[in-house]
Amino acid sequence: MSSAIHKRESLQSWIDQTETPFVIAGPCSAENLEQVVATAKQLKETGKVSVFRAGAWKPRTRPGSFEGIGSKALEWMDEAKNQTGLSTITEVANAQHVEEVLKHNIDMLWLGARTTVNPFYVQEIAEALRGVDIPVLVKNPLHPDLGLWIGALERFDKVGINQLGAVHRGFYAHKPAPFRNEPRWDISFELRAKAPEIPILCDPSHIAGKREWIKEVSQTAMDINFDGLMIETHIDPDNAWSDASQQITPSALTDLLNNLVIRTEGLNNHSSEEKLEKFRKHIDGLDSELIKLLDQRKALIDKIGEIKYEDDMTIFQMQRWFEIMRNRENLADDLGVNKDLVNELFNVIHKYSVNQQIDLLKTKEKK
Ligand code: PEP
Ligand code: MN
Repeated sequence: MSSAIHKRESLQSWIDQTETPFVIAGPCSAENLEQVVATAKQLKETGKVSVFRAGAWKPRTRPGSFEGIGSKALEWMDEAKNQTGLSTITEVANAQHVEEVLKHNIDMLWLGARTTVNPFYVQEIAEALRGVDIPVLVKNPLHPDLGLWIGALERFDKVGINQLGAVHRGFYAHKPAPFRNEPRWDISFELRAKAPEIPILCDPSHIAGKREWIKEVSQTAMDINFDGLMIETHIDPDNAWSDASQQITPSALTDLLNNLVIRTEGLNNHSSEEKLEKFRKHIDGLDSELIKLLDQRKALIDKIGEIKYEDDMTIFQMQRWFEIMRNRENLADDLGVNKDLVNELFNVIHKYSVNQQIDLLKTKEKK
């Protein structure tokens, strides 16, 4: 499926005006006027932040936690903007929020992960924005469903939003994991392949869940060429009213941004170009060997299929399957090759081998 998002001016003009990376920072939630203005002032002083974020309505998993200040917070954000000159962004989750945001002079808005999962909400928000020229950032849905993420972007595209961006904030992890949300970078690659015109930012705060890991996640995002970062920043993180463990101070943010290594997609010097070319040629050669080996394997699969057919044997043979997996994993282990990689690879190879023999059986039975 290729995306139906039209090539438009996109968020790129905002991003191009800043040095890499484009940074959005500010507290998870707006708590009071002093906190909002003081955080924005300190962020302005870093000289590295383009947009000030704060949540006015907070989607909480269970009732009873702090659910945000509401529209009053937007007045504080407007004040922060007047005092610092920073642009502002907040989260909207329904049409009413959109109306408030537009009334209060907020410059951009984002959709949270819990909203992107629901096409009804997305459509309602998109309708409320018809004819409005405001940048909209769409966070990935809670679970790793690329279709929902692209679908939400398409809904905004269809109502004429010119400046669209995506925010990768990781995916719900059903197994205990060090990070709060699983990064699944592969899904961000797929998004970029299907919607290359959409700039993509990373939200390392919600991926990491702990302030110690925000730097590492930010660096990975830069290494794989993300356009920017959205980082939760609070003047007193330990006492934040929401997401306290993942917020950092403006000075920690400055430190983090100063120490990020920014790489370029193209090469910077000739000698690395030659080396890279040499290794890439070698890899190309190895990959073509792999494909030729698969072709040889395919011929053997047919021969085995013939025997199974003649002998009335089942195609899938559990014991043989276990043996293949155990044997390939052990070999991988001995050679220092990643066992999970080999396991996944042979699962795929086995799946196609079984299908090949099923097809063979069908053609034989037709005769
Ligand atoms: C947030 O940015 O504070 C937030 C609620 O994010 P998410 O939708 O990614 O959970
Ligand atoms: Mn948060």
